[in-house]
Amino acid sequence: MQAIQKLQRAPGLTLTEVSTPECGVADVLIRVRHAGVCGTDLHIADWDEWAQGRLKPPVIVGHEFAGEIVELGPDVGDAFHIGQRVTAEGHIVSGHTKQSRTGQGHVCPSTRIIGVDRDGAFAEYIAMPAKNVIPLGEISTVIGSIMDPIGNAFHTVLTAEIPGSTILVLGCGPIGCFAVGVARAAGAARVLAADLNPRRLDLATQMGAHVTIDVTQDDLVQRVMDETGSEGIDVVCEMSGHPTAIRQALECARPGGRVQLLGIPRQDVPIPLAKEVIFKGLTIYGVVGRKMFDTWYQMQTFIGSGLFDPSPVITHTFPLEQIDDAIAAIRSGAAGKVILDIGGNA
Ligand code: ZN
Repeated sequence: MQAIQKLQRAPGLTLTEVSTPECGVADVLIRVRHAGVCGTDLHIADWDEWAQGRLKPPVIVGHEFAGEIVELGPDVGDAFHIGQRVTAEGHIVSGHTKQSRTGQGHVCPSTRIIGVDRDGAFAEYIAMPAKNVIPLGEISTVIGSIMDPIGNAFHTVLTAEIPGSTILVLGCGPIGCFAVGVARAAGAARVLAADLNPRRLDLATQMGAHVTIDVTQDDLVQRVMDETGSEGIDVVCEMSGHPTAIRQALECARPGGRVQLLGIPRQDVPIPLAKEVIFKGLTIYGVVGRKMFDTWYQMQTFIGSGLFDPSPVITHTFPLEQIDDAIAAIRSGAAGKVILDIGGNA
């Protein structure tokens, strides 16, 4: 089969011909139809410090995908069937740690991630443990292929109290834009979205943001205070990882408010803890992946019912062999979500 591999401990990705993966006894073999390209794949392509410390080439990259089941391992039972359209949680946990036994599998220390720690989804086939596989029902494989990052947004937003709240989303990359849509779908009273890229702010508006703030034009904190009658924000979702934005996220939150941190800063970020966190009584929540499997059931109902539609965020689709173009599109800053078409609709 065709696959995109990280072959060497150096920058670049390579289109290769490899053998179809074996379907283990507790696995399902999935014919991949669509796959999402993400910032993680850029880090791997660039072979940055994180990638150097984590990956052991050769490895097939890609962790966001959907397709249909073509083979069932003998221990899978009757939960799935051949031809069923599915996606999967790409974080594979042992099931034996305290975290994965108590509903905190998303922070299990033994997590192995497809496309990073083991072979991934930029390929015609992938074998996945059945326990990680999620049926799509009526959801298309295009949308199914990006339920991983959509799940990051659901996890970020729905672990806070949203109905009737004011929400600020800092950073309108694909996950930030999804977060805007989730907040709207979950009954937020007012959703503000901030970024420095007008194209991304436009996508945030399409996803339902009431107010967009271009931080190259406006002082973010001042503008937020103006928009909220100096009250501040109930729930701030920090999706950028930029040190300035992280400090501003705390400043924008109202006393007693909540800050959801998803964006990953490259270095330690000094914050005025006493003034901006302790005396304000803030709750800070670190967002890792998706809750297993609460987030997936939330997505199935919100997407399946039409309450949440991520399609405006999908701006580019490329065939597998144009992975370099897909990565260039993300790098340009002009893209929303970029998808690989690996054999079209099932
Ligand atoms: Zn991703």
